[in-house]
Amino acid sequence: MERVSATLDDLPIRDDLRGLKPYGAPQAALPVALNVNENTHPVPEEVADDILDSIALALRDINRYPDREFTALREAFADYLGHGLTRDQLWAANGSNEVLQHLLQAFAGPGRTALGFAPTYSMYPLLARGTGAEWVAGEREPDYTLTPQGAAEQTAEAGADVVFLCSPNNPTGTPVGLDVVEAVYEATDGIVIVDEAYAEFAPREERSALTLLADRPRLVVSRTMSKAFAFAGARVGYLAADPALIDALRLVRLPYHLSALTQAAATAALGHAPTMLRMVDEIVAQRDRISATLPALGYQPHESWTNFVLFGGVDDPAATFQALYDRGVLIRDVGLPGQLRVTAGTEDETTAFLDALASIDSAA
Ligand code: PMP
Repeated sequence: MERVSATLDDLPIRDDLRGLKPYGAPQAALPVALNVNENTHPVPEEVADDILDSIALALRDINRYPDREFTALREAFADYLGHGLTRDQLWAANGSNEVLQHLLQAFAGPGRTALGFAPTYSMYPLLARGTGAEWVAGEREPDYTLTPQGAAEQTAEAGADVVFLCSPNNPTGTPVGLDVVEAVYEATDGIVIVDEAYAEFAPREERSALTLLADRPRLVVSRTMSKAFAFAGARVGYLAADPALIDALRLVRLPYHLSALTQAAATAALGHAPTMLRMVDEIVAQRDRISATLPALGYQPHESWTNFVLFGGVDDPAATFQALYDRGVLIRDVGLPGQLRVTAGTEDETTAFLDALASIDSAA
């Protein structure tokens, strides 16, 4: 008998999931992949060796469940972040996506509302709806910035239980002032998540929202090892917040959610933080080179404090995306009219992107 596979619509799936689209950054094995804001530099050799040793050690006890409280790792994160943070203020999971999911499982859910300011990280609405919460897309200024007053007003109006401030923002690269964080915090009784996934690429002298944590028990600062630490494949994200808020996350996480191998790898990598972060300056230089070169090619880059650049002036984003693809360069069409986003690569990758773009006649 011929087997006909069912479609989603045939299944007794939750009504609130019907019609949703999964996260869908295209995956393609092209020579130059500048599409998902990875760090395109591999982990330095000497660190890789040390990580391997730690993993080998952990493997000897792999018959046992790992430390459910990942104590050594939380201590390593507290050391790395500084600001007087202690391990009881730290949490971690398999990527900051899972960190955000834990937050939403504890503080969003059915009958509750999560707010973010579009365009922003595309996983926020998916994660929020995954818990049964409603997603509200707030607005930004035309240049993608947020003002304290504008953000606070929208927060109060939405009556949101969870507010996302992506700082700096993906996919636009836009910085978010600490005055915006303070104003949004005052405007809600809910949880305020400052997603600092790209914080290490911001100017060094800029203050992190970590400096606002004291006396703000509803404030969360999330980070990831995927970007500056070149650790995307290991899946390690973390957050800092009040110890009580972290206790709430213990209610929703799966027991032993961080494998012994992940804990060993991440703790070892954090022991080499300065070496792991060695490439950040070089990536920032390539980002600035992209921003400085694009106007000469007829495009308008937006200010970026991240490892990527969103640029406008693209006549037909789908056509330019495809023309670059055909030249072996994968970037990202984030669905914003007239714009495309590119991750800063190594010097050679960045040159390949700029040369390929220069060879396409598509600036508006
Ligand atoms: N936050 C932002 C703003 C991101 O851009 C990303 C990844 N692109 C993440 C969180 C999730 O990263 P990860 O799960 O790899 O830590």
